[in-house]
Amino acid sequence: MIKHMNEFIYTSYINKVITMKDKIIFNTLFNILKYKSHWYNKLKKIKEFKISRSRSLSLNIQVRFSGDKWYHAGTINKQLRPNTKKQLTYALRQAINYQIQRWSKSNNECRLCVHCNTSSSLQVDHKQPSFAFISKSFLRQVQLRPPNVFSYHKYGCKFRVQDRKFRRIWSKYHEKIATYQWLCKRCNLKKGTK
Ligand SMILES: [Zn+2]
Repeated sequence: MIKHMNEFIYTSYINKVITMKDKIIFNTLFNILKYKSHWYNKLKKIKEFKISRSRSLSLNIQVRFSGDKWYHAGTINKQLRPNTKKQLTYALRQAINYQIQRWSKSNNECRLCVHCNTSSSLQVDHKQPSFAFISKSFLRQVQLRPPNVFSYHKYGCKFRVQDRKFRRIWSKYHEKIATYQWLCKRCNLKKGTK
């Protein structure tokens, strides 16, 4: 069961020392232990994690406090099963991030929120249609099967090298449709809750 459940986590982290810098995985492990009541008081003292494979092929979580010794803290179960849909969304976003950066650079002169005209804390917003709309319509019509295993980087998921074809088709699709505008953080939030 464990075999397919979190391939992306264990292939990239097994036997590596995980520090607070590896924010996402660190917090994931942290949250797993949070639900084990006898760990609650020790949590804040954890400096590092390590995931290792046990003989039964399940995954063990080990923790280290200030010293050198590793302590067994638990076994990874379903809670660590990554949400594939969410991962796919991260990867889709990551794959077109360069387009957003490019737009942002070439529209740097006219940085004003299109709603309230402020020039502070601006963000690039998908004008029309939204990112969610573009990605949904892409997934509806794409001929290739969307990846369900991803590689991992510090801001989330990205497509693996072997899925570059999928990534390329997506990024072309997105590039044709996406239009952007500047929105300040506040107006962007407001738009998101509408
Ligand atoms: Zn605004």
